[in-house]
Parts: sequence; structure tokens; C-alpha cells
Amino acid sequence: MLRENNHEHKVNQTRREGRIGLIANKYLKRIRAAPGKKIRLDDFSTDWAQERDLKDAEKEAFKEKALKILDENRAALASAQELLWASNVYSILIILQGMDTAGKDGTIKHVLSGVNPQGCKVHSFKVPTEEELDHTFLWRFWRALPNRGEIGIFNRSYYEDVLVVKVHPERLRNLPPGKIGKKFWNARYEDINSFEQHLFRNGTIILKFFLHISREEQKKRLLDRLKDDEKYWKFSLTDISERQFWNDYQAAYEDAINATSTDLVPWYVIPADHKWVARTLIADIITTKIRSLDLQYPQITDEILAKYREAGRQLEED
Ligand code: ADP
Repeated sequence: MLRENNHEHKVNQTRREGRIGLIANKYLKRIRAAPGKKIRLDDFSTDWAQERDLKDAEKEAFKEKALKILDENRAALASAQELLWASNVYSILIILQGMDTAGKDGTIKHVLSGVNPQGCKVHSFKVPTEEELDHTFLWRFWRALPNRGEIGIFNRSYYEDVLVVKVHPERLRNLPPGKIGKKFWNARYEDINSFEQHLFRNGTIILKFFLHISREEQKKRLLDRLKDDEKYWKFSLTDISERQFWNDYQAAYEDAINATSTDLVPWYVIPADHKWVARTLIADIITTKIRSLDLQYPQITDEILAKYREAGRQLEED
């Protein structure tokens, strides 16, 4: 019987460590914002199950299973990332968006905890600086894109420029004169779609997640932050003032998702009222995506292999 060489062994190990897609496709389909169709956020659950009859039934068993899947995916993601890095063809860009307290930071921490930090970069985008405002809105994101072989995470992204800025158009600065209306925002969606298409065509796989929480859950999380002196640092008074604009934000998200969920780069509307649900789903989607690329470790020729063996022999004798 032929023995696996080291390379084959590693590839097969990656495959053995978990099935592609631990979560049923049927479920994933339901949280994917179908390109070309108009979605309404109200039709997407923020809770752990999309079906009413599943809502309370066997919740604990479901949670236990989900946490197991999360664990498996975390391990699988670590080896998938190593392969991504070694094959050096694609990069992965993960975009996390959501209302304040939706769980973006926690998701990054829990989903990517096993991944080699060398091949993974997180960027958190805040209110743009003067220098950033002196460029087009995509400029600061261009500079932060992952290199080939890397996973890049955008904690907030260029979508803020059609979300917070759409809710507060007074924040637009130094633009050529013109009406800020439907046409203006459509042009921004178009720019985003072109930008993402360009990246995709050049080997950047983009995964976009909207962490969908309910208004009640946000209230609960904000109050939690106010009750716990170890969580004060997470609290900001602007979270309360922005909450007043909840409906405007939901409308802005709906418009942005409808305009930019494409076949190449779809949006996932992740139920996020339960952190374990959101994390499990996101880990599964990322791992499945990297594995579907069917990456290979770089092959070496017999000639080089012979040289390596000779080098090894010499080292043994040293
Ligand atoms: P986070 O809430 O992500 O943990 P912060 O509390 O510092 O971090 O919030 C960052 C803030 O920056 C958010 O309120 C967000 O809406 C704002 N922001 C991000 N991008 C832009 C932008 N292009 N224009 C205006 N505000 C922005």
C-alpha cells in the first residue's frame, strides 16, 4: 500500500478534521441575503432558530451541539488558514457589521482564537481622521486589505459610509457640490460592488456578516454594561444617542444589503441575539469557504526533494 507523503498527509488531515459545512446548507441558505431579491430585515430572525416550532424545543441540546461545532470549526479553521498561507494564492476578507453591542469584538475573539496571528490581521474602523477624510471613502480600506495568504478582518468597514453616514449625512465632508439623495447613495453602492468585484477577481474572497440583533437585546446588553464596573469601558454615551436612530439604521442596512448582496459576494444576516449562535454560524461559513477553494500545499520537484534529502543526510552526519 502506498504511504501518504507528508504533503498528502497534511491535506487529508485538513479534510479529516471536519466535514465541509457542519451546518446544513438548508439553514445557511435561509440566512443568506439572496442576490437580486429584495430582503426585509424583519423577515430574518435575530433569535437562535428561524422556525417557530424550533424556538423552544430542545434549546439546550441545540446549544450543546452548536458549541461542539464551533470547537471543531475553530480547530479546522486553524489548519485551513495554514493551507491558505502556504498556498499563497487567495486572501480572505471578513467584514463584520452590526449595531452597537451586536458582538463584533467577541466574534473575532472567539472564532479566530486558534488562528496563527502571523496570517491574520484585524482592523477596527472608527470615525475617519482628517487625513482619511481628505481621500475618497474607500482609501483607508485599500490600505488595510489582507495580503495573499492572509485572513483580514474588518471590524466595521466601508459599509459605514452608506450606514452611519447615510443616517447622519451631515458627516459627509469636502465633497464636490451635488444633491445627497438616492442617486448619491446608489453611486456609493455601485462603487462598493465594483471594488468588491475587483478584489474577488484578483483572489480576495470576501465574506460579509451582518450581526442581526433585536432592539430589546441591545437594551439588555447596554444595561449590562452599565451594571458591571468591569464592563464600563465598553460603554459609550453615543451608543445611547445612536439608539434613537434604530429604525433609520435598520433601513440603511436593508438598503445596503439589497444593493450589495451579489452572487460573488453575498451578505449573511446572522441571528445574533445569542452569541453562541452567531459565532458558530460565522466560524462554519468561514471554514467551509476556505476549504471549498481546494487549496494545495506547494509541490516540490523530485530534484529538489533529492537535494533536501541530501541536506538532511549531511545534517545527520554533522
Ligand atoms: P466600536 O463601536 O466599533 O467598538 P467605537 O465605539 O470607537 O468602536 O465606534 C466607532 C464609531 O465610528 C462608530 O460609531 C461608527 O459609526 C463610527 N464610524 C465608522 N466609520 C465612520 C465613517 N466613515 N464616518 C463616520 N463615522 C464612522
